[in-house]
Amino acid sequence: MKITFPHMGNVWIPVKALFDYLDIEFVLPPQNSKRTLSLGTQHSPEGACLPFKLNIGNLIDAAAQGADTVLMTGGVGPCRFGYYGELERDILTDLGINLKLITLEPPDGSLVGLARRIKMAAEGKPWRKIIGAIKFAYGKALAMDRIEDIIHWARPRALNPRLVEEIYGRAQTDLDKARDAREIDRVVRDTRAQVRGLAHKEGFEPLRVGIVGEIYTLLDPFSCHDIERHLGNLGVQLDRSIYISGWINQHIFQGLYKAYKEISHHRELAKPFLGHTVGGHGQETIGGAVDFARRGFDGVIHLLPLTCMPEIVAASILPQVSKSLQIPVMTLYVDEQSGETGLLTRLEAFIDLIDREKSMDRRVRNEQLVLGG
Ligand code: SF4
Repeated sequence: MKITFPHMGNVWIPVKALFDYLDIEFVLPPQNSKRTLSLGTQHSPEGACLPFKLNIGNLIDAAAQGADTVLMTGGVGPCRFGYYGELERDILTDLGINLKLITLEPPDGSLVGLARRIKMAAEGKPWRKIIGAIKFAYGKALAMDRIEDIIHWARPRALNPRLVEEIYGRAQTDLDKARDAREIDRVVRDTRAQVRGLAHKEGFEPLRVGIVGEIYTLLDPFSCHDIERHLGNLGVQLDRSIYISGWINQHIFQGLYKAYKEISHHRELAKPFLGHTVGGHGQETIGGAVDFARRGFDGVIHLLPLTCMPEIVAASILPQVSKSLQIPVMTLYVDEQSGETGLLTRLEAFIDLIDREKSMDRRVRNEQLVLGG
């Protein structure tokens, strides 16, 4: 068996760790690029969502490199993720590519069902080894989340943004190479130390923006034109409603482990605005925006693929959240046609807006302090 998996940002690091630990031969598809997207778009239905098209591009590439089995997550509920597997199989078969699909999801609501699927991929490896592999991979997911947040902190503050990107690139490589929990911890510590050692803008207080929305576009820099890097360079410290460990813990481990940032409370927070699930992370998007408003963030950016059904529902509700909790919200759609320049222009305009609102708030507060009222 030569296994592969579709990309989604840094998720390749923990997934590769799982295979490495279990000595499973695997194929890592080339990172997402314009070529991947064009390959996927060419062979996907026109109305398919952007992540689907990128997945198809990844799988065609991986099959060309000799992969014969795909490990992917599946979904339940009213969004297209639930039939990604079947549709991908049909498209690939039509192209003469025969890949066996192993879908990782708790099929009967139990972690045992999930572990059985991993055991199937691991071809008879003992349970002890499988549990060890899951822990090792999850340890890397947690570390990746921490590293991403360190980078979120550093980007708006560093005098030389190029150095932050170099530190980030090194951290990704080192985390991939880490062989045990001690080495994983060391990569996080080293990244933090390197960021502390950079020259920072003195007395600079960045704006704080939360990003909510569809998980793939949130986690995969190619699909969102590297919005996090752009925001950082515009002087914004950001946070996301979803980090990979939070997603794994909620959807795969069913809350049994501790995630870097939990997302389980987002559904509850969403209830005054959206009381039921609409598939994907639509409800969590609303809850995430409420969370950022309560935590005093200066604005929220909602990211979604153009034809994403759950997030379209969320987009229609977010104006109410914005009005009722008085937080500016901007919605950004991405698809294979969207360009980086257009995105940057909209980001600059939004940041300008929230910066002015914040300065106005400060002026009013100052006036109240001096003149009373
Ligand atoms: S959440 Fe949206 S983008 Fe993701 S699979 Fe569902 S419809 Fe597609």
